[in-house]
Amino acid sequence: MPLTLGVLGAGQLGRMLALAGYPLGLRFRFLDPAPEAPAGQLAEHLAAEYTDERAWAAFADGLAAITYEFENVPVTAARALAERVPVYPPPAALEAAQDRLSEKRLFQELGLPTPACAPVATRAELEAALAALGWPAVLKTRRLGYDGKGQALLRAPADVEPAWRALAGVPLILEAFIPFERELSLLAVRGRSGETAFYPLVETHHRDGILRLSVVVPGATASADQRQAEDYAARVLRRLDYVGVLAIEFFQHNGRLLANEMAPRVHNSGHWTIEGALTSQFENHLRAVLGWPLGAAAARGPAAMLNLIGDTPAPEAVLRVPGAHLHLYGKAPRPGRKLGHLTVCAETPEALAERLAVLRPLAGFPAELQ
Ligand code: AMP
Repeated sequence: MPLTLGVLGAGQLGRMLALAGYPLGLRFRFLDPAPEAPAGQLAEHLAAEYTDERAWAAFADGLAAITYEFENVPVTAARALAERVPVYPPPAALEAAQDRLSEKRLFQELGLPTPACAPVATRAELEAALAALGWPAVLKTRRLGYDGKGQALLRAPADVEPAWRALAGVPLILEAFIPFERELSLLAVRGRSGETAFYPLVETHHRDGILRLSVVVPGATASADQRQAEDYAARVLRRLDYVGVLAIEFFQHNGRLLANEMAPRVHNSGHWTIEGALTSQFENHLRAVLGWPLGAAAARGPAAMLNLIGDTPAPEAVLRVPGAHLHLYGKAPRPGRKLGHLTVCAETPEALAERLAVLRPLAGFPAELQ
Protein backbone atom coordinates (compact mmCIF):
# COMPACT_ATOMS: atom_id res chain seq x y z
CA MET A 1 0.00 0.00 0.00
CA PRO A 2 1.46 3.38 -0.93
CA LEU A 3 1.81 5.78 1.99
CA THR A 4 -0.51 8.77 1.93
CA LEU A 5 0.49 12.01 3.61
CA GLY A 6 -2.05 14.62 4.69
CA VAL A 7 -1.21 18.27 4.22
CA LEU A 8 -3.06 21.23 5.78
CA GLY A 9 -3.00 23.95 3.15
CA ALA A 10 -2.97 23.35 -0.60
CA GLY A 11 -0.95 26.29 -1.89
CA GLN A 12 2.26 26.22 -3.90
CA LEU A 13 4.26 24.84 -0.97
CA GLY A 14 1.91 21.87 -0.82
CA ARG A 15 2.14 21.46 -4.57
CA MET A 16 5.95 21.33 -4.40
CA LEU A 17 5.78 18.86 -1.50
CA ALA A 18 3.65 16.57 -3.68
CA LEU A 19 6.00 16.98 -6.63
CA ALA A 20 8.90 15.93 -4.38
CA GLY A 21 6.93 13.03 -2.94
CA TYR A 22 5.78 11.32 -6.12
CA PRO A 23 9.23 9.89 -6.99
CA LEU A 24 9.26 8.39 -3.48
CA GLY A 25 5.96 6.62 -4.21
CA LEU A 26 3.96 8.84 -1.84
CA ARG A 27 0.38 9.98 -2.24
CA PHE A 28 -1.09 13.18 -0.90
CA ARG A 29 -4.39 14.45 0.48
CA PHE A 30 -4.82 18.18 1.05
CA LEU A 31 -7.25 20.04 3.30
CA ASP A 32 -7.79 23.67 2.36
CA PRO A 33 -10.98 25.77 2.35
CA ALA A 34 -10.16 27.34 -1.04
CA PRO A 35 -12.22 25.65 -3.77
CA GLU A 36 -9.31 25.92 -6.23
CA ALA A 37 -5.74 25.52 -4.98
CA PRO A 38 -2.34 24.89 -6.58
CA ALA A 39 -1.91 21.49 -4.89
CA GLY A 40 -5.50 20.51 -5.71
CA GLN A 41 -4.52 20.44 -9.38
CA LEU A 42 -2.32 17.40 -8.72
CA ALA A 43 -3.72 15.56 -5.73
CA GLU A 44 -6.83 14.79 -3.71
CA HIS A 45 -8.16 18.02 -2.19
CA LEU A 46 -10.86 18.27 0.49
CA ALA A 47 -12.28 21.77 0.30
CA ALA A 48 -13.36 22.34 3.89
CA GLU A 49 -12.49 24.67 6.75
CA TYR A 50 -9.55 23.56 8.90
CA THR A 51 -11.86 23.68 11.91
CA ASP A 52 -14.60 21.58 10.25
CA GLU A 53 -14.75 18.63 12.64
CA ARG A 54 -16.81 16.56 10.19
CA ALA A 55 -14.06 16.92 7.57
CA TRP A 56 -11.32 15.71 9.97
CA ALA A 57 -12.36 12.04 9.87
CA ALA A 58 -12.45 11.95 6.05
CA PHE A 59 -9.16 13.84 5.86
CA ALA A 60 -7.27 11.75 8.44
CA ASP A 61 -8.53 8.35 7.25
CA GLY A 62 -5.60 6.06 6.42
CA LEU A 63 -2.91 8.78 6.52
CA ALA A 64 0.67 7.88 7.51
CA ALA A 65 1.24 11.38 8.93
CA ILE A 66 -0.05 14.93 8.63
CA THR A 67 2.00 18.04 7.98
CA TYR A 68 1.12 21.64 7.12
CA GLU A 69 2.31 24.11 4.55
CA PHE A 70 0.42 27.13 5.89
CA GLU A 71 1.42 28.54 9.23
CA ASN A 72 -1.91 30.11 10.06
CA VAL A 73 -3.65 26.75 10.33
CA PRO A 74 -5.63 26.90 13.61
CA VAL A 75 -3.59 25.19 16.35
CA THR A 76 -6.82 23.61 17.66
CA ALA A 77 -7.20 21.76 14.34
CA ALA A 78 -3.57 20.56 14.36
CA ARG A 79 -3.94 19.32 17.95
CA ALA A 80 -7.25 17.57 17.28
CA LEU A 81 -5.84 15.85 14.20
CA ALA A 82 -2.74 14.81 16.18
CA GLU A 83 -5.05 12.59 18.27
CA ARG A 84 -5.80 10.58 15.13
CA VAL A 85 -2.54 10.69 13.13
CA PRO A 86 0.98 11.99 14.00
CA VAL A 87 1.26 15.68 13.08
CA TYR A 88 4.71 17.10 12.26
CA PRO A 89 6.12 19.67 12.90
CA PRO A 90 4.65 19.45 16.42
CA PRO A 91 1.62 21.73 16.95
CA ALA A 92 3.59 23.52 19.71
CA ALA A 93 5.93 24.84 17.00
CA LEU A 94 2.95 26.12 15.04
CA GLU A 95 1.64 27.81 18.16
CA ALA A 96 4.97 29.50 18.92
CA ALA A 97 5.38 30.75 15.35
CA GLN A 98 1.85 32.16 15.07
CA ASP A 99 2.45 34.91 17.60
CA ARG A 100 5.36 37.27 16.97
CA LEU A 101 5.65 37.92 20.70
CA SER A 102 5.85 34.27 21.78
CA GLU A 103 8.26 33.62 18.91
CA LYS A 104 10.56 36.44 20.05
CA ARG A 105 10.31 35.27 23.68
CA LEU A 106 11.26 31.75 22.64
CA PHE A 107 14.29 33.09 20.75
CA GLN A 108 15.32 35.23 23.73
CA GLU A 109 14.89 32.34 26.19
CA LEU A 110 17.19 30.22 24.02
CA GLY A 111 19.81 32.98 23.84
CA LEU A 112 19.13 34.08 20.25
CA PRO A 113 19.55 37.86 19.92
CA THR A 114 16.46 39.58 18.46
CA PRO A 115 15.51 43.16 17.58
CA ALA A 116 14.37 44.99 20.74
CA CYS A 117 10.59 44.72 20.99
CA ALA A 118 7.60 45.31 23.24
CA PRO A 119 3.96 44.15 23.24
CA VAL A 120 1.43 46.88 22.50
CA ALA A 121 -2.29 46.70 23.32
CA THR A 122 -3.19 50.36 23.87
CA ARG A 123 -2.21 53.72 22.46
CA ALA A 124 -0.52 54.56 25.79
CA GLU A 125 1.55 51.36 25.54
CA LEU A 126 2.54 52.34 22.01
CA GLU A 127 3.77 55.74 23.18
CA ALA A 128 5.69 54.09 26.03
CA ALA A 129 7.21 51.50 23.69
CA LEU A 130 8.26 54.23 21.22
CA ALA A 131 9.89 56.15 24.04
CA ALA A 132 11.76 53.02 25.13
CA LEU A 133 12.79 51.67 21.70
CA GLY A 134 13.32 54.96 19.86
CA TRP A 135 12.79 55.81 16.17
CA PRO A 136 12.36 54.42 13.61
CA ALA A 137 10.31 51.43 14.73
CA VAL A 138 8.06 48.86 13.10
CA LEU A 139 4.54 48.25 14.40
CA LYS A 140 3.26 44.75 13.56
CA THR A 141 0.20 42.66 14.31
CA ARG A 142 1.25 39.78 16.55
CA ARG A 143 -0.77 37.25 14.57
CA LEU A 144 -1.68 36.53 10.95
CA GLY A 145 0.94 38.79 9.39
CA TYR A 146 2.79 37.60 6.30
CA ASP A 147 4.60 39.08 3.32
CA GLY A 148 4.78 42.49 5.00
CA LYS A 149 1.02 42.62 5.61
CA GLY A 150 -0.09 43.85 9.03
CA GLN A 151 2.91 46.08 9.62
CA ALA A 152 3.80 49.76 9.43
CA LEU A 153 7.11 51.60 9.60
CA LEU A 154 7.07 54.52 12.03
CA ARG A 155 9.73 57.04 11.03
CA ALA A 156 8.34 60.11 12.78
CA PRO A 157 5.49 61.03 15.18
CA ALA A 158 3.22 61.88 12.20
CA ASP A 159 3.27 58.19 11.17
CA VAL A 160 1.79 57.00 14.46
CA GLU A 161 -1.88 57.96 14.04
CA PRO A 162 -2.39 56.40 10.57
CA ALA A 163 -0.52 53.22 11.62
CA TRP A 164 -2.58 52.98 14.79
CA ARG A 165 -5.81 53.43 12.83
CA ALA A 166 -4.78 50.74 10.33
CA LEU A 167 -3.58 48.13 12.84
CA ALA A 168 -5.23 48.73 16.25
CA GLY A 169 -7.94 46.40 17.53
CA VAL A 170 -5.72 43.31 17.65
CA PRO A 171 -2.63 42.59 19.81
CA LEU A 172 0.42 44.35 18.37
CA ILE A 173 4.17 44.33 18.83
CA LEU A 174 6.57 47.21 18.34
CA GLU A 175 10.07 46.38 17.12
CA ALA A 176 13.12 48.57 16.82
CA PHE A 177 13.84 49.17 13.12
CA ILE A 178 17.12 47.44 12.27
CA PRO A 179 19.22 49.14 9.56
CA PHE A 180 20.64 45.74 8.64
CA GLU A 181 23.56 45.07 6.29
CA ARG A 182 21.66 42.13 4.89
CA GLU A 183 18.92 39.61 5.57
CA LEU A 184 19.79 35.92 5.80
CA SER A 185 17.65 32.84 5.98
CA LEU A 186 18.63 29.45 7.37
CA LEU A 187 16.73 26.29 6.56
CA ALA A 188 17.16 23.49 9.05
CA VAL A 189 15.62 20.05 9.06
CA ARG A 190 15.26 17.55 11.90
CA GLY A 191 14.15 13.94 11.54
CA ARG A 192 12.06 11.89 13.93
CA SER A 193 15.26 10.35 15.34
CA GLY A 194 16.74 13.78 16.14
CA GLU A 195 19.07 13.73 13.13
CA THR A 196 19.60 17.23 11.69
CA ALA A 197 20.77 18.82 8.43
CA PHE A 198 21.30 22.48 7.56
CA TYR A 199 21.18 24.19 4.19
CA PRO A 200 23.72 26.90 3.37
CA LEU A 201 22.63 30.41 4.35
CA VAL A 202 20.86 32.40 1.68
CA GLU A 203 20.83 36.15 1.38
CA THR A 204 17.24 37.34 0.92
CA HIS A 205 16.02 40.55 -0.69
CA HIS A 206 12.49 41.78 0.02
CA ARG A 207 10.43 44.54 -1.49
CA ASP A 208 7.22 45.78 0.16
CA GLY A 209 7.72 42.95 2.65
CA ILE A 210 7.64 40.25 -0.07
CA LEU A 211 10.64 38.06 -0.85
CA ARG A 212 11.86 38.80 -4.38
CA LEU A 213 15.32 37.25 -4.62
CA SER A 214 17.36 34.75 -2.63
CA VAL A 215 21.00 33.95 -3.36
CA VAL A 216 23.01 31.14 -1.80
CA VAL A 217 25.82 32.85 0.12
CA PRO A 218 29.10 31.93 -1.61
CA GLY A 219 31.30 29.94 0.78
CA ALA A 220 28.50 29.90 3.37
CA THR A 221 29.17 26.41 4.63
CA ALA A 222 32.61 27.24 6.02
CA SER A 223 31.62 30.65 7.43
CA ALA A 224 31.28 31.81 11.02
CA ASP A 225 27.78 33.12 10.15
CA GLN A 226 26.74 29.63 9.11
CA ARG A 227 28.10 28.10 12.33
CA GLN A 228 26.31 30.73 14.41
CA ALA A 229 23.00 30.36 12.54
CA GLU A 230 23.15 26.55 12.79
CA ASP A 231 23.82 26.75 16.51
CA TYR A 232 20.80 29.06 16.96
CA ALA A 233 18.56 26.84 14.82
CA ALA A 234 19.69 23.70 16.67
CA ARG A 235 18.57 25.24 19.97
CA VAL A 236 15.09 25.92 18.56
CA LEU A 237 14.84 22.45 17.00
CA ARG A 238 15.77 20.76 20.28
CA ARG A 239 13.49 22.89 22.44
CA LEU A 240 10.45 22.18 20.24
CA ASP A 241 11.37 18.50 19.70
CA TYR A 242 10.96 19.56 16.10
CA VAL A 243 10.38 17.31 13.10
CA GLY A 244 10.50 18.70 9.55
CA VAL A 245 11.94 21.78 7.88
CA LEU A 246 12.21 24.98 9.92
CA ALA A 247 13.17 28.34 8.42
CA ILE A 248 14.68 31.10 10.55
CA GLU A 249 15.08 34.59 9.12
CA PHE A 250 17.85 36.79 10.45
CA PHE A 251 18.89 40.42 10.13
CA GLN A 252 22.66 40.87 10.03
CA HIS A 253 23.50 44.10 11.82
CA ASN A 254 27.03 45.18 12.76
CA GLY A 255 28.00 41.65 11.80
CA ARG A 256 25.66 40.03 14.36
CA LEU A 257 22.73 37.81 13.54
CA LEU A 258 19.39 38.92 15.01
CA ALA A 259 16.53 36.43 14.74
CA ASN A 260 13.52 38.11 13.12
CA GLU A 261 11.08 35.26 12.69
CA MET A 262 10.68 31.57 12.02
CA ALA A 263 8.39 29.50 9.82
CA PRO A 264 7.59 25.93 10.91
CA ARG A 265 7.37 24.66 7.35
CA VAL A 266 9.09 24.58 4.00
CA HIS A 267 9.90 28.14 3.00
CA ASN A 268 10.13 30.41 -0.01
CA SER A 269 13.81 31.13 0.74
CA GLY A 270 14.49 27.41 0.15
CA HIS A 271 12.94 27.00 -3.32
CA TRP A 272 16.41 27.10 -4.87
CA THR A 273 17.08 23.71 -3.26
CA ILE A 274 14.87 21.91 -5.82
CA GLU A 275 17.59 22.14 -8.45
CA GLY A 276 20.40 23.72 -6.42
CA ALA A 277 20.92 21.32 -3.50
CA LEU A 278 21.74 17.63 -3.21
CA THR A 279 18.31 17.11 -1.59
CA SER A 280 15.48 19.63 -1.88
CA GLN A 281 13.84 21.14 1.19
CA PHE A 282 10.58 19.49 0.08
CA GLU A 283 12.08 16.00 -0.09
CA ASN A 284 13.87 16.48 3.22
CA HIS A 285 10.67 17.65 4.88
CA LEU A 286 8.91 14.48 3.68
CA ARG A 287 11.82 12.29 4.79
CA ALA A 288 11.75 13.92 8.24
CA VAL A 289 7.99 13.63 8.69
CA LEU A 290 8.00 9.96 7.64
CA GLY A 291 10.93 9.07 9.92
CA TRP A 292 13.23 8.34 6.98
CA PRO A 293 16.95 9.24 6.82
CA LEU A 294 17.59 12.85 5.82
CA GLY A 295 19.36 13.73 2.59
CA ALA A 296 22.50 15.86 2.23
CA ALA A 297 21.68 19.57 2.27
CA ALA A 298 24.79 20.92 0.51
CA ALA A 299 24.46 23.22 -2.50
CA ARG A 300 25.54 21.79 -5.86
CA GLY A 301 27.12 25.15 -6.66
CA PRO A 302 26.19 28.82 -6.96
CA ALA A 303 22.40 29.26 -7.14
CA ALA A 304 19.68 31.88 -6.81
CA MET A 305 15.90 32.12 -6.90
CA LEU A 306 13.66 34.91 -8.19
CA ASN A 307 9.98 35.12 -7.29
CA LEU A 308 7.43 35.87 -9.98
CA ILE A 309 4.96 38.33 -8.48
CA GLY A 310 1.74 39.39 -10.24
CA ASP A 311 2.91 38.41 -13.71
CA THR A 312 4.89 35.64 -15.40
CA PRO A 313 7.39 35.78 -18.26
CA ALA A 314 7.21 33.80 -21.50
CA PRO A 315 8.66 30.35 -20.71
CA GLU A 316 10.88 30.48 -23.84
CA ALA A 317 12.63 33.63 -22.62
CA VAL A 318 13.53 32.03 -19.29
CA LEU A 319 14.43 28.60 -20.58
CA ARG A 320 16.88 30.06 -23.08
CA VAL A 321 19.14 31.00 -20.12
CA PRO A 322 21.56 28.17 -19.24
CA GLY A 323 20.90 26.71 -15.78
CA ALA A 324 17.50 28.45 -15.47
CA HIS A 325 14.38 26.60 -14.35
CA LEU A 326 10.79 27.81 -14.37
CA HIS A 327 8.18 26.90 -11.75
CA LEU A 328 4.58 28.05 -12.22
CA TYR A 329 2.05 27.39 -9.50
CA GLY A 330 -1.14 27.25 -11.57
CA LYS A 331 -2.58 30.40 -9.97
CA ALA A 332 -4.64 33.12 -11.67
CA PRO A 333 -2.60 36.33 -12.05
CA ARG A 334 -3.37 39.09 -9.56
CA PRO A 335 -1.22 42.09 -8.56
CA GLY A 336 1.08 41.21 -5.68
CA ARG A 337 0.38 37.46 -5.93
CA LYS A 338 3.22 34.89 -5.95
CA LEU A 339 2.61 33.06 -9.22
CA GLY A 340 5.84 31.13 -9.56
CA HIS A 341 9.59 31.33 -9.28
CA LEU A 342 12.76 30.95 -11.31
CA THR A 343 15.82 29.11 -10.10
CA VAL A 344 19.18 29.58 -11.71
CA CYS A 345 22.28 27.49 -11.11
CA ALA A 346 25.82 28.02 -12.43
CA GLU A 347 29.32 26.66 -12.14
CA THR A 348 30.89 29.93 -10.95
CA PRO A 349 29.65 33.07 -9.12
CA GLU A 350 30.48 35.12 -12.24
CA ALA A 351 28.32 32.93 -14.46
CA LEU A 352 25.53 33.15 -11.90
CA ALA A 353 25.74 36.96 -11.92
CA GLU A 354 25.56 37.02 -15.72
CA ARG A 355 22.53 34.76 -15.79
CA LEU A 356 20.82 36.76 -13.06
CA ALA A 357 21.33 39.93 -15.08
CA VAL A 358 19.28 38.35 -17.89
CA LEU A 359 16.61 36.92 -15.58
CA ARG A 360 15.94 39.94 -13.34
CA PRO A 361 14.04 41.95 -15.98
CA LEU A 362 12.17 38.81 -17.05
CA ALA A 363 11.00 38.43 -13.45
CA GLY A 364 9.78 42.05 -13.55
CA PHE A 365 12.21 43.23 -10.91
CA PRO A 366 11.92 46.84 -9.80
CA ALA A 367 14.90 49.07 -10.65
CA GLU A 368 16.46 48.97 -7.18
CA LEU A 369 16.70 45.19 -7.34
CA GLN A 370 18.09 45.10 -10.88
P1 AMP B 1 8.51 40.11 8.56
O1 AMP B 1 7.09 39.84 8.19
O2 AMP B 1 8.71 40.38 10.01
O3 AMP B 1 9.48 39.08 8.04
O4 AMP B 1 8.89 41.46 7.77
C1 AMP B 1 8.99 41.51 6.37
C2 AMP B 1 10.21 42.32 5.98
O5 AMP B 1 10.11 43.66 6.47
C3 AMP B 1 11.52 41.79 6.56
O6 AMP B 1 12.03 40.75 5.78
C4 AMP B 1 12.38 43.05 6.52
O7 AMP B 1 12.85 43.30 5.21
C5 AMP B 1 11.38 44.13 6.91
N1 AMP B 1 11.39 44.29 8.39
C6 AMP B 1 10.56 43.69 9.26
N2 AMP B 1 10.87 44.01 10.54
C7 AMP B 1 11.92 44.84 10.48
C8 AMP B 1 12.72 45.50 11.47
N3 AMP B 1 12.46 45.37 12.78
N4 AMP B 1 13.76 46.26 11.03
C9 AMP B 1 14.02 46.40 9.71
N5 AMP B 1 13.31 45.81 8.73
C10 AMP B 1 12.26 45.03 9.09
